[in-house]
Amino acid sequence: MKTYQVNEEGFYGDFGGAYIPEILHQCVEDLKNSYLQVLESEEFKKEYALLLKDYVGRPSPLYLANRLSDKYGCKIYLKREDLNHTGAHKINNAIGQVLLARKMGKKRIIAETGAGQHGVATATVCALMNMECVVYMGKTDVERQHVNVEKMKMLGAKVEAVTSGNMTLKDATNEAIRDWCCHPEDTYYVIGSTVGPHPYPDMVARLQSIISEEIKDQMMEHEGRDYPDYLIACVGGGSNAAGTIYHYIDDERVTIVLAEAGGKGIETGLSAATIQLGRLGIIHGSKTLIIQDEDGQITEPYSISAGLDYPGIGPMHANLAKEHRATVLAINDDEAVKAAYELTRLEGIIPALESAHALAALEKVQFKPSDVVVLTVSGRGDKDIETYLNYYK
Ligand SMILES: *Cc1c(COP(=O)(O)O)cnc(C)c1O
Repeated sequence: MKTYQVNEEGFYGDFGGAYIPEILHQCVEDLKNSYLQVLESEEFKKEYALLLKDYVGRPSPLYLANRLSDKYGCKIYLKREDLNHTGAHKINNAIGQVLLARKMGKKRIIAETGAGQHGVATATVCALMNMECVVYMGKTDVERQHVNVEKMKMLGAKVEAVTSGNMTLKDATNEAIRDWCCHPEDTYYVIGSTVGPHPYPDMVARLQSIISEEIKDQMMEHEGRDYPDYLIACVGGGSNAAGTIYHYIDDERVTIVLAEAGGKGIETGLSAATIQLGRLGIIHGSKTLIIQDEDGQITEPYSISAGLDYPGIGPMHANLAKEHRATVLAINDDEAVKAAYELTRLEGIIPALESAHALAALEKVQFKPSDVVVLTVSGRGDKDIETYLNYYK
């Protein structure tokens, strides 16, 4: 049977793999050799499930949004990852990887962060599990995302402001990789999305797959069948989308719609629409689509949403797009902000700007009245209130 999951070599079609410096070879090999064994062990599953339930607050509800459904002429359920502890899906992955690090005997956790959401999730879990935590963050982002920096500090993490390059996510990631190269023995690198060298994309997808596992049960409860007609999610690196589609990826009855950040418009040069604009290249250890110039230099991405402006895309999603298994829509800033206000006024839920891109996709799909749609609200909008209020000033 054809599968869209990763193969033995760590590839999704032409995308993925592990393109890493020699010095990290052993680290990545060790991780590759232990992740499946640990993730599938009864001990890990038990600890992970208990924390997801009592600490994160899972299962997250599947909520039938009646007024939103009326507006779009179909039945729309929202998968409420915004209700998780720390306000988004990222905690699912952070808990899983820090548990794994502990099982591998690592003492020190490092992470990269752009908007600070993954940094906060990782720092949270490190506080919980009493692990040393260093978070790399571009200096520009440290200034832009002040509150998240304070949160990480309060949680006991060390925030390293990175001053190379444009001082944003890409540079923070380079610095984290450099740290890992210097401390391969005792350090575990927690990557925040389905990106990076194999086995990270597959590991992060598995840790987020709790989302689609729950959707299956909840669909059965609500609809008497365990699959929807549509799954919709936003894509930065791809982790909430990967979690949303994981158990349906090879089920062609389910149409997959992914929303990437169009920024000011894909033709404006101010965009993060990697699938529309990217060309094949290697970024942070993975072969995937990347927004780059003629010389292969990575172009700084732009989106109103700090969580979506990664210049690459997870190899799983690059392959889904290439194989036409997923429809990928570029959603511009103004469309996302409009959709966020719409959800707020129709359902009393203020979504994260990232999730608002998924909501804006509803306008662009022709639904039938019988269609059942599940859309993942990846996070809550508390962090974005100022952006929302300033947008129409
Ligand atoms: C980080 C983030 C995203 C984007 O990351 P993915 O790995 O693509 O899921 C989306 N939504 C929220 C709320 C985020 O914090």
